Amino acid sequence: MRKGDNVAKYDVAIIGSGPGGYVAAIRAGELGLKTIVVEKDPFLGGTCLHVGCIPTKVLLHHADVYDHFKDGAELGFEVSGLKIDWGKILARKNKIVLKHAKGIEFLFKKNKVEWKQGWGRYEGPGKVSVEKDGKKETIEASNVLLVSGSEAKSLPEIEPDHKQILTNRSILELPDIPKTLIVVGAGAVGVEFASIYNSFGTDVTILEALPRVVPVEDEEISAELDKAYKKKGIKIFTSCMVEGVKKDTKCVTVSFKDKDGKAQTLQAEKLLLAVGRQPLTANCGLEKSKARTERGFVYVNEHMETDEPGLFAIGDIVAGMPQLAHAAMMEGIVAVTHIAGKPTQPVIKTRIPNATYCEPQIGSIGLTEKQAKDAGYAVKTGKFPFIGNSKATILNAHGGFIKVVSEEKYGCVLGIHIIGPLATEILAEAAAVLNLEGTIDDMMHMIHAHPTVWEAMGDAFASVRGLQINV
Ligand SMILES: Cc1cc2nc3c(=O)[nH]c(=O)nc-3n(C[C@H](O)[C@H](O)[C@H](O)COP(=O)(O)OP(=O)(O)OC[C@H]3O[C@@H](n4cnc5c(N)ncnc54)[C@H](O)[C@@H]3O)c2cc1C
Repeated sequence: MRKGDNVAKYDVAIIGSGPGGYVAAIRAGELGLKTIVVEKDPFLGGTCLHVGCIPTKVLLHHADVYDHFKDGAELGFEVSGLKIDWGKILARKNKIVLKHAKGIEFLFKKNKVEWKQGWGRYEGPGKVSVEKDGKKETIEASNVLLVSGSEAKSLPEIEPDHKQILTNRSILELPDIPKTLIVVGAGAVGVEFASIYNSFGTDVTILEALPRVVPVEDEEISAELDKAYKKKGIKIFTSCMVEGVKKDTKCVTVSFKDKDGKAQTLQAEKLLLAVGRQPLTANCGLEKSKARTERGFVYVNEHMETDEPGLFAIGDIVAGMPQLAHAAMMEGIVAVTHIAGKPTQPVIKTRIPNATYCEPQIGSIGLTEKQAKDAGYAVKTGKFPFIGNSKATILNAHGGFIKVVSEEKYGCVLGIHIIGPLATEILAEAAAVLNLEGTIDDMMHMIHAHPTVWEAMGDAFASVRGLQINV
């Protein structure tokens, strides 16, 4: 390189430090790429760490422990004087979030990743501007990753006030547990909060526009969750249209049309809007690029590169990909590995696991039975209920099942759908089978340790051939 050549200061500049951004940055550092992250907030970790995956799972764990205490008598424990110290629960949640945010800072230092606070904007090939407190500076980088994430959508005429009408952010900071809660939306975020507050004694009602709860899951999983939730006392209205919300000092009143078109109203102390997430790409400089976008989502190729060479998009802003932390992480890894000139594999949508941490938990991957049939496969399914699994009985959690969707001729596994104990953990085997393109016969010969909840997977694969042992 001759003196005077325009040398880019960084190999990679990453806008956003959520799971897509921070994982990409660490891997880029490991691969020897000079890397800088621009983050608008004064802390690292994004939605996932601060107001998404991690704080919700802390609350779900606390709800789970509380449920065990409530069921103490069945297990032979006399529990008296059981009380919830909500302030302590929130403090523990905040401590865990802070610890992990510091952990990311540590990993950045370890991998020589720099970071800068400010609003990052793509300014054309090799340039990113960073704006903070009215001051603007420019970073030069050969490659730019836009990983700016998403925010909660609201409904027309229903704007969150964060006191009575809440989003995933404000519901994490409630000073008290509400007595009544309406959750609008029965996707992963909605059903997780419904589960948390139902355990803590809130009277919860779910309103969902589509015909079933967790609508992206296999139909049998939705039906099982519906049944389990109604048994816990959670009221569910599906195929209903929310029309408006009125507030007074004490409560919110929601008006909606139920599935028969009948006008109804419901009152509650709080309302949670969980109707999906929109990409945060406005004012990020995409208009200065050739990147193709639709409703704020960005189209990419198999290396996560947009139509603008050197500009990559990762995570919740990517068109056609699920908005999940682990999807964002792998997309970031693929992009920086490609930038480092090393071979990568594309992120395949049907190999991304879904984990929903409601009670009962849901874990799924691959095609649902309907999707497999619609795709033209001759489909063969098997199903194994946890009632036949001894460890599930020991855990006192034997509701639910594992459903395997396979292709009839060669027994290729197309999808696995789990609802029940440790579903999000035993999903690990399902992800391995799909990624390694295993067959029912491969999996029927795999030895599963006994007694584990995991061994129910063996029975589920065998059930496709009618050879399950334990039911
Ligand atoms: C309640 C809830 C629970 C969830 N639970 C799970 C779960 O259990 N498992 C799971 O896989 N997923 C879960 N998700 C989804 C997950 O949080 C997202 O898929 C994930 O955070 C997306 O990562 P990201 O890096 O694309 O974006 P984000 O995590 O949203 O991070 C984007 C970052 O970019 C920053 N930023 C934005 N614009 C700029 C700019 N112009 N300049 C500088 N910085 C900018 C933001 O401040 C933020 O830090 C949950 C989401 C919610 C809301």
